[in-house]
Amino acid sequence: MIRKRSSAAAHPAGSEAKRRAPKDPPRTGRRTKADAKAPHRSAQRPAPALPGRGAPAPGSERARVAAIRRTLRRLYPQVRTALAFASPYQLLVATVLSAQCTDERVNRVTPGFFARFPDAATLARGPRADIEEIIRPTGFFRMKAKSLQETAAGLAERHQGRVPADLDALVALPGIGRKTANVILGNAFGIPGITVDTHVRRVSLRLALTREDHPEKIEIDLMRQVPRREWSDFSLRLIEHGRRICVARKPRCPACALLPHCPAGAALTGNGAVRR
Ligand code: SF4
Repeated sequence: MIRKRSSAAAHPAGSEAKRRAPKDPPRTGRRTKADAKAPHRSAQRPAPALPGRGAPAPGSERARVAAIRRTLRRLYPQVRTALAFASPYQLLVATVLSAQCTDERVNRVTPGFFARFPDAATLARGPRADIEEIIRPTGFFRMKAKSLQETAAGLAERHQGRVPADLDALVALPGIGRKTANVILGNAFGIPGITVDTHVRRVSLRLALTREDHPEKIEIDLMRQVPRREWSDFSLRLIEHGRRICVARKPRCPACALLPHCPAGAALTGNGAVRR
């Protein structure tokens, strides 16, 4: 039984002209004017809280992170995917197609796609031109078609056409990076994972949950501070917050419920101390 859960569909940026077929699509982690106004992260941000047991001490970094988690749970109690899928294979395809495309548009394309290419074996040997034609509305269609077909060939050759429920096996497939793998594990298999996309990266840095720029290092920082059972939902909540409030260019700090716990927000609004 496949669960429909929240969407961490890849939302990378990039240039079709570059024709990149990355393991995960490129990220858009540029430093914005808003970020430039905040103090430099190394001066402003404490090291990520270490994991611990029991209630965090008042005023500690663990208490601040706990308040952030609590606030995000309250703001976004139900995080559900908007991508329609009925199997891990379908989620894999939908996630790849969702790069630089809305979930709604992907959902309009995938029924026709799955009718034509119902499994990895069919997709692997399908005519590239047919794949491109069907997925054209999702953008970057040549890159996506190539990536999908290479992944499907890997599934057919190594896993009898089935999507493995294992991070190492997934990232060993052509065209699948940690971000896409964590989306699949979390949503199709219920295996917790932190998905680091451009929103998670930006919001984590502003909230001083990490000092790192590299997605894998950010992932490790978040995994250290957030209980495993919350990994998938926590990253999805950061994505929601990044889309709605903590937007790239002009974060809506005065309207943000995380402002009392956010060093970047304090700096941007001149709001003084950060509450822990
Ligand atoms: S206060 Fe909120 S909107 Fe402002 S930087 Fe922090 S998390 Fe982002």
